Amino acid sequence: MVTRADIGVIGGSGFYSLLDDAEEIELATPYGPPSDVVTVGRIGSRSVAFIPRHGRDHRFPPHRIPYRANLWALRSLGVRQVLAPSAVGSLRADYGPGTMVIPDQLIDRTSGRVQTYYDTGGAVHVSFADPYCPSGRAAAADTARATDWHTADAGTLVVIEGPRFSTRAESRWFAANGWSIVGMTGFPEAILARELALCYTSLCLVTDLDAGVETGQGVTHDEVLEFFAQNVTRMRSLVSATVQALPEERTCPCGSALDGLKLPFDLP
Ligand SMILES: [Zn+2]
Repeated sequence: MVTRADIGVIGGSGFYSLLDDAEEIELATPYGPPSDVVTVGRIGSRSVAFIPRHGRDHRFPPHRIPYRANLWALRSLGVRQVLAPSAVGSLRADYGPGTMVIPDQLIDRTSGRVQTYYDTGGAVHVSFADPYCPSGRAAAADTARATDWHTADAGTLVVIEGPRFSTRAESRWFAANGWSIVGMTGFPEAILARELALCYTSLCLVTDLDAGVETGQGVTHDEVLEFFAQNVTRMRSLVSATVQALPEERTCPCGSALDGLKLPFDLP
């Protein structure tokens, strides 16, 4: 394969393109095709591969996204650092719509999703105590703050199974635990990235207050998409600037995630 990329971006709801004049690549993986063709191009001096997480026509709901194929496709192109923008609901009144949260922790409330590459050929237990890349998080938070985003440089992302939104009681329970934001796609994406020794950084745009925080009728899908559409240009700029702020050489622990483990197959 000739086309290579160092950095991968997985775009969330409303974020269907990133690169102009990019090469489109159809990739096959052992886990089927990724969500869409992968576009590969440059941002400044960095080579970047982009996948729209839900497909460009938003055909994959959160629980049907081919997460394993997406991360595998990126790694097979040479990607080692992944940025993952997404839309989230806020569990805190002080993180209103438009807040950019760079989470440092994750709670998995999904069910029934395949969350490993290592389901045959022996057990592979990777460390997931800190699910996100410290270098990527610093680059994203610094860039967001420098470009006038209301930025939270840490927080706990609750990933729910969806596609329904939370009940008020669930939302209040999440908030009472001190968790910050709620989304539907951050898991298993984060663990699959770790299982491939990739750096993974989530950039979470708050589009609404979750049901337990809001006094009205709760969030609707149209409201989320409309808010995201209003912010997508700004979001794209932030992702592009963060790409260029990522370190060229990895000094974080992510690349050593599989050291000493016996893998049942070679990674791409
Ligand atoms: Zn890293």
